[in-house]
Amino acid sequence: PARLRFAPSPTGHLHLGGLRTALFNHLLARKWKGKWLLRIEDTDRTRFTEGAVDSLRGSLEWAGLDYDEGVGIGGKYGPYTQSERLDIYHHYTKELLSRNEAYECFCSPNELEAIKVLLKQQGMRHSYDGRCRHITDEEKVRKKKAGAKYVVRYKSSSESMDIPPDLIFGDNQPSAPTAGFDDFVLMKSDGWPTYHLASVVDDHLMEISHVLRGEEWLPSIPKHHSLYKAFGWTPPKFAHLPLLCNPDGTKLSKRKGDTFVEHYMKQGYEPSALLNFLALMGWDYHSALSSKTTLDPHIRNDGHSLYELFTMDQLIEAFDITHIAHRKAAVNQLKLDFLNKMTLRRMAGRLGNDGVMVNSGKISHDNGNEGEREGLIRRFQQGLRDEKVLKGCELVEDVQYVEKVFDAELPRTTILTEMPMHSIFYFLPPTYTCHESQSMLKDLTSRIYCQYVSLFADTLQQSASSSSSTTLNEDLVWDVIHGLLDQLGIDRKPKLLVPIRHALTERKKGPSIPELITILGLDETLSRLRRGVE
Ligand code: GLU
Repeated sequence: PARLRFAPSPTGHLHLGGLRTALFNHLLARKWKGKWLLRIEDTDRTRFTEGAVDSLRGSLEWAGLDYDEGVGIGGKYGPYTQSERLDIYHHYTKELLSRNEAYECFCSPNELEAIKVLLKQQGMRHSYDGRCRHITDEEKVRKKKAGAKYVVRYKSSSESMDIPPDLIFGDNQPSAPTAGFDDFVLMKSDGWPTYHLASVVDDHLMEISHVLRGEEWLPSIPKHHSLYKAFGWTPPKFAHLPLLCNPDGTKLSKRKGDTFVEHYMKQGYEPSALLNFLALMGWDYHSALSSKTTLDPHIRNDGHSLYELFTMDQLIEAFDITHIAHRKAAVNQLKLDFLNKMTLRRMAGRLGNDGVMVNSGKISHDNGNEGEREGLIRRFQQGLRDEKVLKGCELVEDVQYVEKVFDAELPRTTILTEMPMHSIFYFLPPTYTCHESQSMLKDLTSRIYCQYVSLFADTLQQSASSSSSTTLNEDLVWDVIHGLLDQLGIDRKPKLLVPIRHALTERKKGPSIPELITILGLDETLSRLRRGVE
């Protein structure tokens, strides 16, 4: 069975590219019914960052990418942190030394620099000339006795090597050198292995069958294959994932911090939307569209298509390594927002085939599960509790009311965390004090608008009291609105509806007036309408 691994270095927070690598490992492991593990590659002590491992694990956990073995959960191939495996790397370094595939190098940093300059002047590509290959045993002993520092270098050969095609890049490995490479370092003078040695040894010992990692490691391929050969081991299959870039094709900038997964966690994006988004990065999903999705394939006005919306199970089913393109993948924030919005609708059971909201009376769990909807409502309620102005508001504890508000606001919600702030008016009457509202009020309090609002309040009250039904329903409110439009000879609905909405909510947008009024209830509606025109 397939064994894959995600092997980040703890140099900081997990970035989008790293999460995508983890995701692709996860998808293939699940698809192939194999396993994947988390290995921490912390042998570069100069780049080690305190807290980075916890942060990495936190991000993976948030995303719901559950690995089968590795740091934090163990497994029979452990330890999974490279700093705990130093004796293993020493063992294999000795093995290469004894087979004459490696040698000790005593050159000081100054000497190395001088050699590099010299080689460059001679037009050579290499940066080390391998001079320590020829040191005699007596000299080595003498140098070691004198306390000289040394590294262990791999004895590279200039023989050409057969490198199997990359599963994504094929034979097209532009950055890989065609001929030999430097006698690169395996073991540093401080007793820590280099990435190349540790990665090859671990992938072998952990029985990794497929190495899926970022394109930046493609140039290391000849070195790694050569090491496998020197050890006499069968190499795993390699697949390098194309780099992520900005929409204009430039290198993904880290300046704004929005390339880190934590940024999206803090903003309140749904993990499944972010994973869905990352799955589209480099994966030619159009070819997977024959999958049994019931969603509308048409490109919508906003340029997105619901065909791009996948649940984790759908991804596992549709994902396929042969359809990963080897061109750079652009990170497009608008796409993420679209996917988040649709994911919220799906989780809430309100996603219709063409992306529009299905009526809140027809909640469906075709593409989601019931727990997801409840989870969203619970988070929304917590967000309301956290709004300072709503401190102690009893209505916030009324789950049925909160659910109604949730459904009413969902069509205008991109990220769940923005919803509580936009919903305050359902819980507190407007104060009409903000600047925007003041200027709007100035327009609206022109006599005619005041008349409309008062008239509407009176008519609504009358109709409600003469209606047989005890609760206000949307049809009744529509009847009142249409009756008034006729009676007053108003040609455009907004002339009537804008002032009413303002009196009720102090806002320009929101759910339909009838929906709003049925949520607020008759008493609250009337009191707001009357206050709004005082
Ligand atoms: N430790 C490397 C990194 O942080 C991973 C290289 C690999 O997957 O082989 O990018």
